[in-house]
Amino acid sequence: MPETRPLSYSSLRVYLECPLRWKFLYVDRLPEAPRSYFSFGRTIHAVLEELLRPFLVTDSVPRISAGAAQRRLDEWEAGGRLVEGRPRALTRDEMLATYDRLWVREGFSSAEEEGRYRTLGENLLLRYYDRLVDEPPRPVAIEEHLQASLDGIPVHGYIDRIDLTPSGALEVLDYKTSREMSAKDAFSSDQLAMYQVLVEKNYALPVERLTLYHLRSLTPYASKPRDARAIGQFSEKVSAVADGVREERFEPTPGRVCERCEFRALCPEFREVPADERARLETLVDRFAALRREQGRVEDQLHAAADELHREAERLGVHRIRGHGLTALRRREEAWSFPVEGVRPLLEEHGLVPQASRLDDREIDRLARDPTVDPAVRRAIRSRGGRQVRWFWEVDAAPPDD
Ligand code: SF4
Repeated sequence: MPETRPLSYSSLRVYLECPLRWKFLYVDRLPEAPRSYFSFGRTIHAVLEELLRPFLVTDSVPRISAGAAQRRLDEWEAGGRLVEGRPRALTRDEMLATYDRLWVREGFSSAEEEGRYRTLGENLLLRYYDRLVDEPPRPVAIEEHLQASLDGIPVHGYIDRIDLTPSGALEVLDYKTSREMSAKDAFSSDQLAMYQVLVEKNYALPVERLTLYHLRSLTPYASKPRDARAIGQFSEKVSAVADGVREERFEPTPGRVCERCEFRALCPEFREVPADERARLETLVDRFAALRREQGRVEDQLHAAADELHREAERLGVHRIRGHGLTALRRREEAWSFPVEGVRPLLEEHGLVPQASRLDDREIDRLARDPTVDPAVRRAIRSRGGRQVRWFWEVDAAPPDD
């Protein structure tokens, strides 16, 4: 059932982009279309996993959870040999052979595109290898699956890498194979917020850094761990998605994601009317469009007539003007607006805040009219507000008495 399944960062993102797409993927379990960039990313992640495994330093790292099993290479769809114990570091040639073995072929539009990605990956890995030799990391986990509860909502994720920092804390890293990246991406990344939560709830060491590692440029974009307020905001987002899933709110939400959505043929936003219904519905649409145009024209004329009546009423000092059988009646409507921060201290001082269901113009105006409130306080509330007067016209079907 959707409500019991833990949310991952990617499912969170899918729901926020389009709840209907979430339903297709996670309730109907329709397969996601293979994409060249997904296949490329999976291959690179799988090679890095094998490349970094010998560097693991797990012994001295205290954990809160029992520790989920490390993701095994044979869990990658591409397959891969299992590594028993702690293998020695791969040589360059072994790494390239691993790259060949783990290469994920699906999703490429042509052999030419696949070749371009393949060369890109090879160059990237060779440069990464050099960096690894110069600056060997101290990972305590690679591709680890972690689960946690965030304000009662189960969440989970595969963490690319968790490193031990020189100060004995943890750095959470996520690899990115995308073309472009900036430091801003790391500061605003919900994915890193999710991973921070997962790591903090599974490890006894503090998180010192959250890093998006841009592989094409070998640039680590590091950010500080999110503070309690930022985690609170992220938790609200997770909670909103969990509520949406539980209440089965799966409205299509068209946007940029539609360009690459594989479910357009199933989506009411894009599904075409059957051919045998088209002619009839075309006529209906044309009629509707003509009426909308007419409605706009009539509304313009109504406004112009009301303005003219208003000017005449002002000039003659009257509020009713007779027509042939009907009477136009001039009505007055008053609306108040209040600066909430300007009024709040006054309401607090007189213990009126609990009497308002919320501090908005309507509720404050109600308090200013409430006969149980001290008249001096009501006047003080009014003095902080601003009044707008609106005139409008009604038509009385009954002719007035002579
Ligand atoms: S086509 Fe667009 S609106 Fe429809 S399901 Fe896909 S993402 Fe959502």
